[in-house]
Amino acid sequence: MNLSELTTLRLGGPARSLVVCESEAELVEAARDGVLVLGGGSNVVPPDDGLDEVALVRTTGFQRYGGKVVVDAGVTWDELVVRTLEAGLTGLEAMSGIPGTVGASPVQNVGAYGAEVASVIRTVRVLDRTTGVVADLPAAACGFAYRTSAFKQSPARWVVLSVELELGTDPEPVRYAELARLLGVDLGEAAPAMAVREAVLHLRRSKGMVLDPSDPDSVSAGSFFTNPLVEVAPEGAPCWPDPSGLVKVSAAWLIEQSGFQKGWGDGRVGLSTKHTLALVNRGGGTTAELLTVAREIRDGVQTLFGITLVNEPVIVGGSL
Ligand SMILES: Cc1cc2nc3c(=O)[nH]c(=O)nc-3n(C[C@H](O)[C@H](O)[C@H](O)COP(=O)(O)OP(=O)(O)OC[C@H]3O[C@@H](n4cnc5c(N)ncnc54)[C@H](O)[C@@H]3O)c2cc1C
Repeated sequence: MNLSELTTLRLGGPARSLVVCESEAELVEAARDGVLVLGGGSNVVPPDDGLDEVALVRTTGFQRYGGKVVVDAGVTWDELVVRTLEAGLTGLEAMSGIPGTVGASPVQNVGAYGAEVASVIRTVRVLDRTTGVVADLPAAACGFAYRTSAFKQSPARWVVLSVELELGTDPEPVRYAELARLLGVDLGEAAPAMAVREAVLHLRRSKGMVLDPSDPDSVSAGSFFTNPLVEVAPEGAPCWPDPSGLVKVSAAWLIEQSGFQKGWGDGRVGLSTKHTLALVNRGGGTTAELLTVAREIRDGVQTLFGITLVNEPVIVGGSL
């Protein structure tokens, strides 16, 4: 099978050996050194010449103990969101519609609309490939920060087997201005979880951020660049304080100011017509083409602002 059939960017050559893992034991067995562990393929840029070994995570376990849920890595993230909301649990609604699997969610500490998964994770069950030991890591040992974790820093080492989340039952405060406006509440005011989910999905669709076969702008890996953390934001840039003490600047604003607008690029890979941060494979593109486009954007921003944008998706076997 080709990696292009396993990734949302529809890129990548053959997966020469592909093992589908439907139990934790199969995953532990398959995820040897050097094997790419792949979930939904929504945050990877795979090589054009393919990979020798891929372990596809398709475990399905889900257990609930009151407000606590223990979920296998292969469960689809948005299925988890729906299941918890239907059980009356809150905490995941603002992260509705994020593609991919539960196992990948701690890897880059997924987040959206003012929420991130690190805030509800209690433990992550992992295989340490350097020792062969399986252990339950408490959240404090996972190195969570904005769109990163110990797992993202050392991908050759860690395989996520399952995740334990602690959820609430009370409506959560809305922490994102655009979402609050759509819901008709004040920022910080609580809103019913199902209404939050619907509003988030509405906003995400308008930006091509929900996987949709009928939307060519969703043939992406989501946001291609993270919002950079800087000491002083450029004048006029939308920015937010970060717990690190630095300032998080809107990468979309930097990109637009540097001359790259929505829909930019006349090749087979270019910017989404709905979202400045998403690089889209418009059909028949290659990873080489995507990286060329990404470098042109990164270099344009670097020249104008002296800020180096960093890619959010994992470039397998390469770098920008
Ligand atoms: C349209 C679109 C919208 C998106 N919106 C958001 C968003 O709002 N917020 C956000 O944070 N992200 C977003 N993303 C990115 C992506 O959905 C998330 O990063 C998601 O968690 C990736 O899950 P996956 O299963 O597809 O991971 P994959 O792409 O399969 O893998 C990503 C990385 O994680 C590793 N990995 C996967 N599973 C495991 C495992 N079990 N153990 C160890 N390593 C593993 C892989 O080796 C790879 O390095 C979006 C992507 C798309 C395409």
